[in-house]
Amino acid sequence: MANTPQTKKTLVACPTCSKQLEWNPENKFRPFCSERCKMIDLGAWASEEYKVAAEPSVDDYSSSFDDPESQDHQDRPLH
Ligand SMILES: [Zn+2]
Repeated sequence: MANTPQTKKTLVACPTCSKQLEWNPENKFRPFCSERCKMIDLGAWASEEYKVAAEPSVDDYSSSFDDPESQDHQDRPLH
């Protein structure tokens, strides 16, 4: 058996807690150091997205935009 080439270890900083961790392709949480840090980052991203998507004026506008048109069409007397 030949010696397995010992490649120099790559250290990356966890985006959430800035902890230095060894880059490991088998680490499914990379580039995060742990699942917790990954969830924190995803959570921050998701809540930011949610805030934008949950803007009340968008829903209000689209429903009031859709309603009067069909109502007006039905209510309008033809004669
Ligand atoms: Zn971390």
